[in-house]
Amino acid sequence: MVMQVQDRLGRPLRDLRISVTDRCNFRCTYCMPKEVFGPDHRFLPRDQLLGFEEMVTVVRAFVERGVTKVRITGGEPLLRKGIEKLVGMVAAIDGVEDLTLTTNGSLLARKAEALAAAGLRRVTVSLDALDDPTFMAMNDVGFPVSAVLEAIDAAAAAGLGPVKVNCVVKRGVNEHAVLDMARHFRGTGHIVRFIEFMDVGSTNGWRMDDVLPASEILETIHREFPLVEIPPNYPGEVATRYRYADGAGEIGVIASVTRPFCGTCTRARVSAEGVLYTCLFAVAGTDLRGPLRAGEDVGEIIDRVWASRADRYSEIRTANTPRRRIPVEMSYIGG
Ligand code: SF4
Repeated sequence: MVMQVQDRLGRPLRDLRISVTDRCNFRCTYCMPKEVFGPDHRFLPRDQLLGFEEMVTVVRAFVERGVTKVRITGGEPLLRKGIEKLVGMVAAIDGVEDLTLTTNGSLLARKAEALAAAGLRRVTVSLDALDDPTFMAMNDVGFPVSAVLEAIDAAAAAGLGPVKVNCVVKRGVNEHAVLDMARHFRGTGHIVRFIEFMDVGSTNGWRMDDVLPASEILETIHREFPLVEIPPNYPGEVATRYRYADGAGEIGVIASVTRPFCGTCTRARVSAEGVLYTCLFAVAGTDLRGPLRAGEDVGEIIDRVWASRADRYSEIRTANTPRRRIPVEMSYIGG
């Protein structure tokens, strides 16, 4: 039986984002800059990661409290050994209506079919530009655009489409990619979501000046391909949706900086080591792994934490918000 819980702002718990590893094979400058996550960076040791059975117990506890959508994240989740098996275990949980995964696409081409067969419904692939010089500079490991495009095709062929393609836009770096991406993916059925550069974690050197606001992103596309705003697919959907007036599909904009959406935020996040966070910009989280390994009921902890939740960081953030040390890194909590 589902016991729907609400937070202090009346927001229900509907979405769980669970990170399965803090490791990644990219070094995207806005998420995991090489200068910080260098060769000596210590990732979480294996015994500190939640095991698959532990993750299933955690996901089940969330489902019993109203979660219907589960997103598997990382770091890069496809680096986690046996990920297909985990997908199958989560897909088998009664009440998980939507199971998706966010990936950089580097391993997707060879795993798409197995992930779909295991029960994955959809996939979101990150791609920040269509020209190699820009994309390689942003992923900072020299990974080519062509391989990500091949992965998107493989995902679609495996039945994981339409693929959502996440494109983080940073002023002075890849704003030219906005029109490139729109032109390339129009008419394919895939949905590009343009994401404003965010002050996640404390390592990406975020400045408000580097944010290309949603208004400029939309104007850039609208000038060439007129857009019409359309309603969300469900309450709390992160992206604002726009369709091309000529019927060539849709795009999304995720504007956490200039058009915050905290009022409808129904997302909880659990890190790969089992820490529960109630906001992407949370300062601290609540350990679930210890109680879990001690045989305690983590459901009660989730109830308590969610009931006291009042996060709305994006609504209160300004250009002058002090960059206090925010411990949660995007690569640790998976966005
Ligand atoms: S800033 Fe926090 S509360 Fe607001 S939408 Fe993002 S995760 Fe939700």
